[in-house]
Amino acid sequence: MSEFNYDLFVIGGGSGGVRAARIAATHGARVAIAEEYRYGGTCVIRGCVPKKLFVYASKFSEEFEDAEGFGWTVGERSFSWQTLLEAKDKEIARLEGIYRRNLDRTGVELFDSRAVIEGPNSVRLLSTGQVVTARYILIATGGTPNVDPSLPGCEHVITSNEAFHLSEMPRQVIVAGGGYIAVEFAGIFNGLGAETTLIYRGEEILRGFDNDLRKAVHEEMEKKGIKIICGDTFSAIEKGADGKLTGHTKGGKALPADQILFAIGRRPNIAGLGLEKAGVEVGEDGAIRVDETSRTSVPSIYAVGDVTNRANLTPVAIREGHAFADTIFGGKPWTVDHSLIATAVFSQPELGTVGLTQEEALKRTPNLDIYKTSFRPMKHTLSGRDEKMVMKLIVDADTDKVLGIHILGPDAGELAQVLGITLQMGATKADFDRTVAVHPTAAEELVTMR
Ligand code: FAD
Ligand code: NDP
Repeated sequence: MSEFNYDLFVIGGGSGGVRAARIAATHGARVAIAEEYRYGGTCVIRGCVPKKLFVYASKFSEEFEDAEGFGWTVGERSFSWQTLLEAKDKEIARLEGIYRRNLDRTGVELFDSRAVIEGPNSVRLLSTGQVVTARYILIATGGTPNVDPSLPGCEHVITSNEAFHLSEMPRQVIVAGGGYIAVEFAGIFNGLGAETTLIYRGEEILRGFDNDLRKAVHEEMEKKGIKIICGDTFSAIEKGADGKLTGHTKGGKALPADQILFAIGRRPNIAGLGLEKAGVEVGEDGAIRVDETSRTSVPSIYAVGDVTNRANLTPVAIREGHAFADTIFGGKPWTVDHSLIATAVFSQPELGTVGLTQEEALKRTPNLDIYKTSFRPMKHTLSGRDEKMVMKLIVDADTDKVLGIHILGPDAGELAQVLGITLQMGATKADFDRTVAVHPTAAEELVTMR
């Protein structure tokens, strides 16, 4: 009989936790997992999945307009927010069921409860007060949206969590922030017909992405009707007797809105987790400190995903969880390479990127060849839409190695996924050049840029 109730206890049933639990169980470990809200975590319940469904919904308004250039007469159209919400909720419930069943099928014991750490090998389930022990504990509690608590009237704003459950579609929306979530939700609400403003404190949205592409996303979003205010931020939010909000900015603006969505970053979910009881170290950013194997300062406790604030993306959390389980329970140690991660912002148009930005590449070598093209996608020759697609290749001029690829336009995320493979393989510009184009596509530009 083992001295512990389980070989592994996972706290958090999101992307990283679920993958780790399932893989550990398939390696023969006795595994339990606790989830305080809904299995699937942020990505499935209130992140990537419902967000992408909303992006699809919001794109139809342009599709209807574009169809006319191809001879279609599209009749009167209307949009039902309630129908979208119900369909989305049904799909999320279906996916949550799959997550639960898959855990169950691999023999993982599920607890619908908040769990907190009691010591290096013990966890308390708050639903019952029961304390269980485990040889290893994995913290996979994710992150939570930031709101500035010092902002007067901050109680009137929503975050992405609430945006998925609004009782009615807002007619006038302000999104605060200039990162992934702000840009994606500005596109969603604008496409669904709301008068949309994005307010960002810095000079240009999407800090950290390639400067040319940031500028291009900004321009395209404005062409679609989104008002973007840079260099300003809210000083107070006021709610009128009629329920209408006014966002007062430091720059002296008074912006009216039905909803104000704050997308100003997320913080690791560690509050009340009992980390101090076991001596788990936390960094200045509030993230659990881990080594390359995801081990914390306590040898029996590991942490993966957003709670470690490495790269806060679902596929990264999944890989970290998988590597942990293979390493500890599968006798197949491996670590996650965080240096080359393809990513997409589901802005409208979409941004797909892999590798270094021009600014990052310049820090490594001054000898860069930059290939850049900007063109109107073929579809818009007939639709008449004034929308540009942008592609940029950053090449080390000394080695010919492609260091970064940045794309703005339809399906840029799909392209980034495939281009990620080429960069993993160390592709050179010559490799791109000797690849025969697929015609007519937009992606053929990638192999014909000279
Ligand atoms: P999570 O998925 O957040 O899971 C953590 C789970 O732990 C949650 O279910 C939580 O309820 C539970 N929990 C927390 N504390 C406890 C406790 N004490 N006891 C029990 N349970 C607990 N990433 C992408 O790659 N692509 C995208 O398109 C994308 N879109 C996003 C859109 C939005 C609006 C948001 C908010 C995020 C998006 N992300 C996207 C990021 C992605 O969702 C996260 O990186 C990913 O979910 C992190 O996985 P995780 O396992 O670390 O944590
Ligand atoms: P981001 O970190 O991407 O962006 C936060 C934004 O808020 C930045 O523009 C930041 O400005 C601004 N900001 C920060 N603090 C303040 C403040 N106090 N007042 C005003 N503005 C502020 O966070 P998000 O919330 O957009 O998303 C969280 C993470 O979730 C992302 O980083 C990403 O990892 C993940 N995600 C991934 C998606 C995808 O893969 N498609 C989609 C959605 C989320 P500044 O730049 O000046 O710091």
